[in-house]
Amino acid sequence: MRGTRVRFAPSPTGSLHIGNLRTALFNWLYARKTGGTFILRIEDTDSARYTAGAETSLIDALKRLGLNWDEGPDVGGPHAPYRQSERLDKYRDAVDRILKSGYAYPCYCSESELEAERKAMSASGRPPRYSGKCKTLSPAERAGLEHGGIKPVIRFMVEDRAISFHDGVRGDVSFNTRDIGDFVLMRSDGVAPYYMASAYDDVEMEITDVIRGEDHLSNTVRHLLIMRAMGATPPRYHHLSIILDADGKKLSKRAGALDVSELLNGGYLPDAINTSVAMLGWAGVTGKEALPLSKLAEAFDISKVSRSPAHFDPERLDHVNAKALKSITPQTALETLRPLMERAGFPFENFSTETVEKISAAVASSVHTPQEAGWMSMQFAKRLDPDDEAVEALGAPEAKSAVAALVEAVKDGASLDYDSYEPLMKSVAEIAGVKGKNLFRPIRSALTGRVSGPNLKDILAIIGPAETLRRLNEPFGRK
Ligand code: GLU
Repeated sequence: MRGTRVRFAPSPTGSLHIGNLRTALFNWLYARKTGGTFILRIEDTDSARYTAGAETSLIDALKRLGLNWDEGPDVGGPHAPYRQSERLDKYRDAVDRILKSGYAYPCYCSESELEAERKAMSASGRPPRYSGKCKTLSPAERAGLEHGGIKPVIRFMVEDRAISFHDGVRGDVSFNTRDIGDFVLMRSDGVAPYYMASAYDDVEMEITDVIRGEDHLSNTVRHLLIMRAMGATPPRYHHLSIILDADGKKLSKRAGALDVSELLNGGYLPDAINTSVAMLGWAGVTGKEALPLSKLAEAFDISKVSRSPAHFDPERLDHVNAKALKSITPQTALETLRPLMERAGFPFENFSTETVEKISAAVASSVHTPQEAGWMSMQFAKRLDPDDEAVEALGAPEAKSAVAALVEAVKDGASLDYDSYEPLMKSVAEIAGVKGKNLFRPIRSALTGRVSGPNLKDILAIIGPAETLRRLNEPFGRK
């Protein structure tokens, strides 16, 4: 049997978001699970919607997530080029052949004529579709119009019929072509729009399975009609369900950070993002922990993908991510959190790389959401201007003796190394006669200006005795 060949075919109209990442991921997982080929194809024939920089940003995000492709615009392959704007001649030839075999015809209607036609149809309660009036032009009429300088579009001739196909996710699907109208295969400027380019490429690139969002389900009819006219066997289709937010509304920008590059620059780990996105329609992942792509691929089963709407829950992503952040190397912690630390104004120049890595690792293991990484990392740089809770904690009756006991211990040369932390705090507790929360809250507040943050153990070991004493002796209060 021929190996599976799948493609992710984004239009470069914006950045990678959760929805198209799910499509890319499921294609990738299917290819890797079946030992097949994953292709990246850029669908950029609709130049009006093209956004500068979108292709680069999509490619960058996919690479950072580890979703590598076997054929694509940058790596080439047997069906190159993989950018549709570089394949226009191929579509023109294919449309010519479709025209010659009688499945299409030139249409000379102007935009205003078409608009008037649409309006009239809507007014009489019919779906606004092209009337087909150019279909019956005689060769002499065509020649006359062309002589007059009108460049036609080429329209596919849609006949009334039922079209059925089996969808891997949705089961048997059937459509009637009645409402489609004769659609455009080639614009008057010689450029093939999405339907034509995509159908042609799926055939020419020998795609075996098309995995894409449910919003493309109705487009499949046009794709199938074109493929039939080309005399080609269509691929299998799998249309993935719609993605809703945690409240059951259609996923929108307001529902949280949906831009994948923003997530990657905002402290989210690739494995956590991939795992959370893999859960959108596939129950093979529990979401309890972030899994590497290789593990997701091993478990992936396209026949288990659900047709019910998927729910994207940003809190679940935070949860999986926070857990994954606890077990990364200091180097990865720094790479992941650096943009957040930069945004918070962390003074990198005051620390060695090794210390910044330690700080990042300490922060990574303490955050619930990566947004906390900014202020948490700043606690290693300075004592923050105390907030209300910190002021209150230091105003507590036991606060003074708790802080004083630590000051004395450090003055006496107590070590603040990781291994010394437990015995040190035990003796501070005994001397002060205070323990638990009453001990830790004032000490933490005096050191950092906050009642919460990274582990005290990390703070003491990283800032060291001199800075600890300086902070503890610094007058406390609002600036
Ligand atoms: N270029 C289309 C999009 O970005 C995808 C088309 C397809 O997968 O067939 O929505």
